[in-house]
Amino acid sequence: MTLTVSLPDGSERTLPAGASAADLATSIGPGLAKASVAALVDGRLRDLSRTLPDGARVALVTRSDDHQDALWVLRHSAAHVLATAVRRVRPGAGIGFGPPIVEGFYYDFAVDEPFTPEDLEEIEARMREITATATPFSRRRVDRAEAEALFADDPLKLERLAEIPEDEPITVYENEPFLDLCRGPHVPATNEIKHFKLLNAAGAYWRGDENRQMLQRIYGTAFYTRKALKARLHQIEEAKKRDHRRIGEAMDLFSVEEEVGPGLVCWHPAGARIQMELRRWIEDLLARRDYEFVYTPHIANEALFRRSGHLPNYAENMFPPMVDRGPGSGAAAIRLKPMNCPGHCMVYAARPRSYRDLPIRLSEIANVYRNERSGTLHGLLRVRMLTMDDGHLFCTPGQVEGEIFTCLELVRTVMTTLGLSYRFDLSTRPHSGKRIGGDEVWDAAEAALVQALERSGLDYDLDEGGGAFYGPKIDVKFRDAIGREWQGATIQLDFNLPERFELEYIGTDNRAHRPVMIHRAILGTIERFTGVLTEHFAGAFPLWLAPVQVRVLPISDAQQDAADSVRDALREAGIRAETDARSETLGYRIRDGELKKTPYLLIVGQREANEGSVAVRARGAEKKQIVMTAGEFLARVTDERDSRALAP
Ligand SMILES: [Zn+2]
Ligand SMILES: [Zn+2]
Repeated sequence: MTLTVSLPDGSERTLPAGASAADLATSIGPGLAKASVAALVDGRLRDLSRTLPDGARVALVTRSDDHQDALWVLRHSAAHVLATAVRRVRPGAGIGFGPPIVEGFYYDFAVDEPFTPEDLEEIEARMREITATATPFSRRRVDRAEAEALFADDPLKLERLAEIPEDEPITVYENEPFLDLCRGPHVPATNEIKHFKLLNAAGAYWRGDENRQMLQRIYGTAFYTRKALKARLHQIEEAKKRDHRRIGEAMDLFSVEEEVGPGLVCWHPAGARIQMELRRWIEDLLARRDYEFVYTPHIANEALFRRSGHLPNYAENMFPPMVDRGPGSGAAAIRLKPMNCPGHCMVYAARPRSYRDLPIRLSEIANVYRNERSGTLHGLLRVRMLTMDDGHLFCTPGQVEGEIFTCLELVRTVMTTLGLSYRFDLSTRPHSGKRIGGDEVWDAAEAALVQALERSGLDYDLDEGGGAFYGPKIDVKFRDAIGREWQGATIQLDFNLPERFELEYIGTDNRAHRPVMIHRAILGTIERFTGVLTEHFAGAFPLWLAPVQVRVLPISDAQQDAADSVRDALREAGIRAETDARSETLGYRIRDGELKKTPYLLIVGQREANEGSVAVRARGAEKKQIVMTAGEFLARVTDERDSRALAP
């Protein structure tokens, strides 16, 4: 008896019946057998020890810090080792969820007392004991009664067990003495997990539900190599230093006050300056690309959101209704808008449109309101009143490619100006569930997106089946200065809203047609984007974004008039300049300017005052000072501003 499997290179291999993925690896070569930690069997991640089904497509997953599947298996296994260690320190701990996540893993525990930093050290030490020896992760199928007996003393596990459908196999994984209800897969044995670190502990509601019990979540991370772990730990340290909430406080950019409400941002003058510059920049870029600007109401009759589908599908993210008690209102329910799309559809629908009017590009940098759970709110990154650089394009199917191309070009301009590296993900039609629009519509739309991407010469990854039911989309992911990846712009096709709002244009055939709608946000939300930029630049914003661009420091009172006139000349040219003539030492004032990350400090001593010159200290140039005339400096600084230079 034999079985045959196919490999990623298309070749086939025949093995004795009952052979496992590990046997397959061995049959190919000892090097591969040694390097493998799991296998993808017909696209599903499996233990190496699992028997292979006849006819399967098999790809061996080898140890690699660059491979998400390989990391997934390692980190999920590390989570089990964490739980094993926690049970040694707190034998009665209940066990919640313990998944791998993008940057590591966590496990939730029901314990009487929160974990202290000392607890984490002790737990990590126990983990090192457990991973010092090779205890296998062994998988076993059990029936429901057996599973109930195994987890009789852990109500959290029993709750999850009850949710496993009757027809789904129940499996447990054991790495002595720890037993977990788990689908797997895992690395072969505990000694695979060598390079790991526990990071922190925090309270987390069971299943993220504020009405359920509070558990204690321990976060950790794990890699295959020491180098990757070190790099990640360095990144975490850097991220702490760059935390936009810390920098925001130090630079007086914004605050989130308890009294105002969670997730609601007060922008202080310095932060508002950054926001204003971002808005002006985007508006300018859009105006050059023939966008029209509109303003639509922040509140609207909720019938509008019923029609758009937001209320049926998105109500939990919307704030509850207010009742309109005005005369003739019929006590209509009014809602804060969660998105701008319905308003923009109404602008489109307000008058008849012909193919000659298309494309119509509407833009609104607008506030939208989302009832995010308070536990998910985080500084500027997750807020409840968001400012979106929102835009909606209405075009004919034939214009889709050209419009997408322009959006991509806009993204490229924005990312390049800010010095951010980026990539694109194309998400295509979902495989299951109902879709809006026939196959021809999807074929044409997806082809247009691919064409636009290829015409731009941009690399992209394909997320097959990752699109929404109403259209395919392109997501932009960008990396910050410390290597973290962020979700950036989205360009989303929508066949649904034009249907719901019965949008039409009269075509060349004199008949009514549905336009295609494209939602696009380039920065996304200004709050989040500002938060990310603050961390990316560590507060050292490029000159054009810096709240204060130049500080002029007279050495003593005698030069204050000269300093003020330099400042006035700069202000005259639209440069944000101020004089710091405080009665502190020059050294103190220089340090203060450096701490505030001011791009330029100009020192005016008696010689400079006499000659009409300034001694320029550029940010990051350490103690280096260059003397130039005030006019030369003005030319340099206005040029840097106008070209949105990244330096200093
Ligand atoms: Zn598990
Ligand atoms: Zn939209």
